[in-house]
Amino acid sequence: MTMSPTTLLLIENDPIDATQIQDALVNEAGLFRVVWVTSLAAALNYLTNNTADIILLDLALPDSAGLDAFDKILDEVPTALILVLSSGADEALMHETLKRGAQDYVAKGHIDAHWLPRALNYIVERKVSRLALSESNKRFRAMSDASPLGIFVSDVQGDCIYTNTAYHRISGLTLEQTLGTNWTAAIHPDDRTAAINEWVVAVKNHQPFLMEVRFLRSDNSIVWTRLNAAMIDSGDTKNPQGYIQTVEDISDRKAIEIILRVSEDELFDQRERAQVTLNSIGDAVLTTNLTGNINYLNRVAETMTGWPIKEAMGLPLEEVFTVIDEDSRQAPPNPVRRALKANKTVKLPTNCLLVRRDGSEIPIEDSIAPIRDRHSEISGAVIVFHDVSDARAMAKKMMHMAQHDVLTGLANRTLLAERLTRALGLAKRKQKKIGLLFIDIDNFKHINDSRGHAVGDRLLQIIARRLEAVVRSTDTVCRQGGDEFVVLLTEIEHSQDAAQVAEKMISTFTVEQLVNEQPINVTLSIGISLYPNDGTDVNALFQHADTAMYRAKLRGRNNFMFYSNAVDLPDSTLEAANPQRPQAKTNS
Ligand code: GH3
Ligand code: MG
Repeated sequence: MTMSPTTLLLIENDPIDATQIQDALVNEAGLFRVVWVTSLAAALNYLTNNTADIILLDLALPDSAGLDAFDKILDEVPTALILVLSSGADEALMHETLKRGAQDYVAKGHIDAHWLPRALNYIVERKVSRLALSESNKRFRAMSDASPLGIFVSDVQGDCIYTNTAYHRISGLTLEQTLGTNWTAAIHPDDRTAAINEWVVAVKNHQPFLMEVRFLRSDNSIVWTRLNAAMIDSGDTKNPQGYIQTVEDISDRKAIEIILRVSEDELFDQRERAQVTLNSIGDAVLTTNLTGNINYLNRVAETMTGWPIKEAMGLPLEEVFTVIDEDSRQAPPNPVRRALKANKTVKLPTNCLLVRRDGSEIPIEDSIAPIRDRHSEISGAVIVFHDVSDARAMAKKMMHMAQHDVLTGLANRTLLAERLTRALGLAKRKQKKIGLLFIDIDNFKHINDSRGHAVGDRLLQIIARRLEAVVRSTDTVCRQGGDEFVVLLTEIEHSQDAAQVAEKMISTFTVEQLVNEQPINVTLSIGISLYPNDGTDVNALFQHADTAMYRAKLRGRNNFMFYSNAVDLPDSTLEAANPQRPQAKTNS
């Protein structure tokens, strides 16, 4: 590639000097092209239509001289490279031209073929590098202004020597406002000390400085930024040239972080509230996942099951919440599976027991409901249960009281009627017999009258125990009321079996009974009705047993009689003997 020669405009009135200069450049003909003019007017004329890379100016011209000539040339071409020719005795003038923009001056006596080309080349090169530097600066500024990152360049003291457009946008400061200020100037006063401390540590440890701080703008708005600073590498880390800091606006990310943190805090508060609530209620609460494995127990549940939450987590429900039916001792169908399948709240059967970890049992009542996630999908189940020991004990007591006689503890008429009904059903299916014995104590009034009511009560209790001792555990002895008892004999084979029981009862009392150490003679009159011979329902069997008993009384007391035998006696005889006697009562 051939370079075009440098054009040199020689403004020189003296032909000898002009020739000497041209001669000095003869050897450099390919590099320099000399245009020679002899007056300022000719020079200005040339420069109007042409360009010159270098102007070689003698300040003693026919139409102008000294600074006037220099200024006129400079006015015409302000960016020109001007080399002033000195006569040797004009030092002060030369210095003034340098101040005004001359590149240099040369003494006419020193011009030769060696020195002049070098001086000219040096001037040209200097201009080229200045241009290159200026271009590079322009490029850097364009690049840095296009960057979304703020850039803050500081000298070694941390004072600003450059900031880019993004920095101005983020900090709200102008270039003029940043120049000369410290790098911490834009930082929120509350974050400044921390930033400086962090910076000191980073520098000391030769680590990169990276920090999130707030910028406080003049309108009091806050911008969250991420600062990243590094030394400007001068090849000597101990003596840096300065620092370059990038500033990223992270306000959007911070806003999201703050929203997330607030949501997390709210979630935490809600969980805490739920925990406190669950631990302060009286009910036990446990939850499972979809596969029925435990994932939560409250304190009451821990105490009731005997399983601490840490040990229970992840275990199958049945292992921690072991439940059996009080009567059958069998586990009811898995309640969680039932709730999930039915997709609604379900309950355990009414008489369930919780078998605790130590094997002890607690009567419980509970409800099991599916848990849904926020997409309404079932994600598990919650079981709420509580100890119903007291309630169940009370219910049992009430039930017992409703079905038993207070004085003797025997079944009452209600319970007997129930059992007789059930026994009838069974006997019908199995084709068995049933015996019903109606027992009335003979002359009990007299015992009451002669020994007192309390002794009569005690005697009733003793009789109750004696009667119970005679029958099987599957039979029922009932106190019908007053001095009347009824005995239900289930599943007898022959009528004779009932007769044997009656005989045994009568013979039990052949010895005197001791009540409060007083001997008392007790005899019984017993009437027997049989299923199916004497009746097939509760009422008929009761009435016929009663009738038979009454006839046993008529026969002289202290004996028993079957209804089938008793019917042979005419009713008139019976009524004449006791016209006030009421009919036997039953509850059905
Ligand atoms: P009979 O041989 O005809 O049966 O004569 P009796 O004296 O036993 O007469 P009855 O069976 O009609 O009378 C039963 C008596 O039992 C009437 C009542 O004073 C007494 N009595 C009823 N209930 C109680 C009770 O709870 N305690 C006591 N001590 N006596 C009762
Ligand atoms: Mg009686």
